[in-house]
Amino acid sequence: MAIPEYRAGVPDDWFVDPVNLGVPGVRQPAAEGEDDTQLSWQTDALCAQTDPEAFFPEKGGSTRDAKRICTSCDVKSQCLEYALANDERFGIWGGLSERERRKLRKRAV
Ligand code: SF4
Repeated sequence: MAIPEYRAGVPDDWFVDPVNLGVPGVRQPAAEGEDDTQLSWQTDALCAQTDPEAFFPEKGGSTRDAKRICTSCDVKSQCLEYALANDERFGIWGGLSERERRKLRKRAV
């Protein structure tokens, strides 16, 4: 398996536009007959209210601040599930780094 090149910076598609999701902390109920979107948990994402750079540190940079924020996040498990299901390779998701998510995936096999 090829190892992807290191990607510096916050990806453009990291989070969907919060305006489309509603006010952080106030989950928008799905419209009648409409399923909740796969990303609706992001309305409660604590990191969306902080500096996204902390979640995508430069190579060798500290992940401590991002992980500390994740410990208080109400959607930590949904975030981690999403990252694992979508094979997110970069950044901190659900309180885990890329390496930690890889280890978790290997243990689950
Ligand atoms: S667990 Fe961390 S990365 Fe995931 S939504 Fe919460 S603060 Fe953001």
